[in-house]
Amino acid sequence: MWVIYAVVFHILLLGSIFVIYFRSPVIQGLKPQPNLPLEAPARRLVLIVADGLRAQSFFYKNLSNVPNLRQLIKRQQGLLGISHTRVPTESRPGHIALIAGLYEDPSAVTRGWKENPIEFDTIFQRARRTYAWGSHDILRIFNKWSQADAADRLVFEAYNNELDFWGNVKTYELDKWVFSRVTEFLKRKPKILPKLDKVYFFLHLLGLDTAGHIHKPQTDLFLENLFATEAGIYKIYQLFEEVFKDQKTAYVLTSDHGMTNSGSHGAGQPYETETPFYIWGAGINSRSYNTAKYIELDANIRMPLYDIEQAQMAPLMSAVLGLPPPVNNFGILPRYFLNASEEYIARAVECNAYQLLEQYVYLLKKHKNGILSFLLPEYSALTWTNVNGMKSYLEQAQFAEDFKTVTNISYALMEMTLKGIEYYQNYYSMPLLFATTISMLSWLRYLLSLLDLEERNCLEKVEFKSVLKKREHKLLLILLLGISGFCILQKLSWEVSLYLLLPIPVMALALTNKIQTLLPLTFGHTLVLLLCIEFLVLSFFSRQLISVGFVLHALLVRKSDNTKDWKYCIKTIMILILAIFPLLPPSVGYTNNRLFFLGFLFTISRPMLVECKLTLSDKLATAISLLNAMYCVHKHINKEELPDICQFLSWSYFSYVFIAICYRPFCSRRQNLERVIFLMTSLYSMLCTSYELHFILLLITELILTVDSMQSSLTTDCANKFQLSECFRVSFSIILYTFFSFFGTGNMASVSSFDPNIMRCFLTTFSPFVIMFLVILKLSIPVFLIVCIIFTLLSFSIEYEKHIFICLLLICDIMALHFLYMVRNHGSWLEIGTSISHFVIMQVTTLILVIFTHASKLLLVKPKNFTSRLTVQNIIKIS
Ligand SMILES: [Zn+2]
Ligand SMILES: [Zn+2]
Repeated sequence: MWVIYAVVFHILLLGSIFVIYFRSPVIQGLKPQPNLPLEAPARRLVLIVADGLRAQSFFYKNLSNVPNLRQLIKRQQGLLGISHTRVPTESRPGHIALIAGLYEDPSAVTRGWKENPIEFDTIFQRARRTYAWGSHDILRIFNKWSQADAADRLVFEAYNNELDFWGNVKTYELDKWVFSRVTEFLKRKPKILPKLDKVYFFLHLLGLDTAGHIHKPQTDLFLENLFATEAGIYKIYQLFEEVFKDQKTAYVLTSDHGMTNSGSHGAGQPYETETPFYIWGAGINSRSYNTAKYIELDANIRMPLYDIEQAQMAPLMSAVLGLPPPVNNFGILPRYFLNASEEYIARAVECNAYQLLEQYVYLLKKHKNGILSFLLPEYSALTWTNVNGMKSYLEQAQFAEDFKTVTNISYALMEMTLKGIEYYQNYYSMPLLFATTISMLSWLRYLLSLLDLEERNCLEKVEFKSVLKKREHKLLLILLLGISGFCILQKLSWEVSLYLLLPIPVMALALTNKIQTLLPLTFGHTLVLLLCIEFLVLSFFSRQLISVGFVLHALLVRKSDNTKDWKYCIKTIMILILAIFPLLPPSVGYTNNRLFFLGFLFTISRPMLVECKLTLSDKLATAISLLNAMYCVHKHINKEELPDICQFLSWSYFSYVFIAICYRPFCSRRQNLERVIFLMTSLYSMLCTSYELHFILLLITELILTVDSMQSSLTTDCANKFQLSECFRVSFSIILYTFFSFFGTGNMASVSSFDPNIMRCFLTTFSPFVIMFLVILKLSIPVFLIVCIIFTLLSFSIEYEKHIFICLLLICDIMALHFLYMVRNHGSWLEIGTSISHFVIMQVTTLILVIFTHASKLLLVKPKNFTSRLTVQNIIKIS
């Protein structure tokens, strides 16, 4: 039963950070502001998003990568600069920031960033008409319309995944498709189109993102694609100018996110968050205000570089066309970017301020709606009276045509409003953090009580009944009534209520068992354990540290190992080699085919060295699949098309492995284990790009030798008496090896970002979800093998499985508590992104360990007529 509690509790904890730190910013049912009452400087706007183009590639060597655009900039001026995105640096959030002016909350990840969790307003919905071309995945985000006339106002043309990119050097074919469709469209309607105003043309160019992923941004192949795309953009610009001769077209060229050198994005590195922008045409100031940054176009032509937030693009584009910003927008209009009359700018800024105020007023009303709100603190800078005062002040200034004052008040109001919105959105963050901490502490106490119970059961063979005293019962009931009463009266959302109430059932659980000693270990042991946990936490920040931890652990194990034979020497060499891996650069994004093929050789030769028995079907299936993998990689190197049969063979082997490990063809547990290792590492080898396989094979072999020496020391020490400190030691080893397998070949960032090259044998089209699945599979295989080895070969761990398991949860949860307090929603996006991934990875690892331990027991240990507790002697006989 307690395993189920553990799984449910950890899934709930996983959700907690999103409720505590990241609430959805979208408010529904808001009224849009009216259009600006003056004539807009532009009648249409062309928004070009070059997906995945980073600022570095664009500005490289004074724009020498974009020669056509460079000429255009010299002629047309306009504004040039860097637009700063937020994490996660993925396509969906980037486009939403640009087109809706809002930063979607990271909890959208739970919906896979595919479906819109909540509907939101966009610049397209405010416009008279929108024409868009690009990839289906992006266009569909903006294709949800509530209005009846949607079909007339929106023309979307998307290609699906039928444009294959695998092995295709020319990813700009994707962009060519867009350009040709736009050209066709403009030529089809040269008479009607110029008559329309307040129109958006949206061109989504996926070619560069795909090129970046496959070729990596610093290669010649990527440059070739960039040249083609930028030339295409220039041609499209010329075409627009030909069709629309009224000089009333504004252009925005930017990108949704950047890309790292290794061809990935998602995290918060400057290469990922810094994207270029170039805005020119009608309504755009050719030179804004003074800035410290410049870029030299020619010997004597310098262009200033500006910085904006990605979400500022939405109110800017709206203002250029005389439209109000989308109702959910959080961006502030950069007024100096506009080339318009003082009155026009004042009106646009005021409209922006009212739009933001509408969101604040909604949150304020909602807070005031709660019956107990008169007792609670409020945002003092912008109370009801202040809001009304500011509004009338604005009206007066507008009436007196004092546009400077209107602009200034509007900006002050916007600043306060944004702070106020944040204040009310995070209103319950502190109580939630407190409640979650109490839940986690109660959970730790529950685990300790379980351990205590197990220990006494073990020593005295007495069943203890659960005890929940009446007094404690009453106290919990009062708490439950009090908190739920508050939630109902204050009309809190169900998520907030759930996490505020969570401590009560966990506390009830923790109090069920009486505890004799709060510290199950001696003071010294506890201190050492806490130090080890701290060490693991630190290794999340610098992966080199895990090398030190690994060597120290190896030394400790060897102290108890008295044998000094050839195995001893081999192990020493292995430990030293393994300790070097975390010092190497991460393997993600690094492809080395020689190392890759060498890994194949190791996979095949390992069974011969360790005398591993295999069934005929294992040998046959693996031989075919490895040959097939080699063929796939060979094709990939030569950028040739992959036949469908190859993919089919890879997926068949994948299914074969998972079916085959469910059977145990041999009677020796060790033989079965070796077979599972062989099958799993063969599957793993198909997902590698360079030296990962060497590391995992070494780690597994070293672990088997370590377990052998641990086995001899543990059986002599604890044959008869139960030792809790040994349980902690074994569980700490499991966690250490797990994290070592993560960080040995990659760092924290590479766990969350991925390299599409790992799917060379499995996929030919770019499908993020299948790739994500393969990344998770690649990370999990070593963990599964580690758990299998420890729970199969170490008889101590089979006997005290439950104890070890509880210790495992204790250690993981103490680490998770640590990371809960390190989650940040302020500061640089690199810090925020990493802090979220630490907590999430910790929770997921705990869950995975729970599942794998049970799986390994079922697959390898559990005999057919299973008796609940095997004696040590029996196990030794079996193995
Ligand atoms: Zn993208
Ligand atoms: Zn991408």
